[in-house]
Amino acid sequence: MITHRTAHPTALRVHVLYTGGTFGMADQGAGMAPRSGIAAEVSEVIARYEDTRGRPVEFWYAESDRVIDSGAADSNTAFRIAQWVRYRVESERPHGVVVIHGTDTMAYIGARVAFELRGLAAPVVLTGAQIPLGQPGSDAQHNMHLALDSIATRPVPGTYIAFGSGLHPAVRASKRACDDYDGFTTVREFTPPPSPVASLPHRGSTAARLPVGLLTVFPGLHSDLLNAAIRQYPGGVVLECYGSGTMPHTAEVIETIRTATRRGTPIVVITQCDSGSVDLERYLPGRSLLDAGAISGGDMTREAALAKLAYLVDLGVSGGRLRDWMTTNMLGELSDTATLPPVSTHEDALTTRSR
Ligand code: ASP
Repeated sequence: MITHRTAHPTALRVHVLYTGGTFGMADQGAGMAPRSGIAAEVSEVIARYEDTRGRPVEFWYAESDRVIDSGAADSNTAFRIAQWVRYRVESERPHGVVVIHGTDTMAYIGARVAFELRGLAAPVVLTGAQIPLGQPGSDAQHNMHLALDSIATRPVPGTYIAFGSGLHPAVRASKRACDDYDGFTTVREFTPPPSPVASLPHRGSTAARLPVGLLTVFPGLHSDLLNAAIRQYPGGVVLECYGSGTMPHTAEVIETIRTATRRGTPIVVITQCDSGSVDLERYLPGRSLLDAGAISGGDMTREAALAKLAYLVDLGVSGGRLRDWMTTNMLGELSDTATLPPVSTHEDALTTRSR
């Protein structure tokens, strides 16, 4: 469904995609679930934006074929959203795109969209709500206006989350509250790379994408659980470790990691801490992980690490090249900027996974 307002020379030109989430939910008898067909309500929200800001908005509105509670997002959700956004931006050249999304997986989806759309000419802003549109105390209109403001006043390309009192770079954002209008936090400082990062090859066929997963370590972690995660996610596993990169490093656990990395399943280590970075050289367990072939995820959020790993694996990047890219600040997802490899080295040496 597409709605289009009359063009005006000074209008803010925006595409809006509604994918679901609390923003458009109602309790339909079995708990809150998203409603489809909210174009008229979104149009009213935009009309109020025009009234308060004194600027006309020319907008195109679309809904996902199936609007979802974002808890139902799968490994293709972000990719599909990114494809939709790319097509709109390249064909219509709007000032920006707003994606209305559920908050539960907004940071995961936003981070993946950020990688998929790196280099896109227009900003992409994800937003949503803690309380549905039209309900008392709803933050839906405020968040939508914040998203529009961010496109109107700071139209810097990139992918962001507009929520509560702030705008968060998607590759640094995390949902940290489900009872507060400020549901998201910029977990660590956003430090974009000083110069554009060398270009990656274009995606080939997406038919045989290998799934990528995430596992949080805890006291008592059994190697069988790790093994099961690696079998289920042969594309790679992000291990959310303790502190600067430690975990229960029993011989079985380390051997499981060594076997996985030798077989070509990357293991990326991030930290459960909200500040600081992984340093696998610091403690013996970290060194064991390093020796077993694990890759440091530096100070990436879990959402960004998972998104980046999945993005690179989907592109067919593997082995030493994957390690290089995982430790290179591509979009501001890492504050420890590694030396950027020359483009030709990467392009020449990239090994494409057989699909
Ligand atoms: N469960 C909802 C969702 O993520 C929560 C929200 O949107 O705030 O779709």
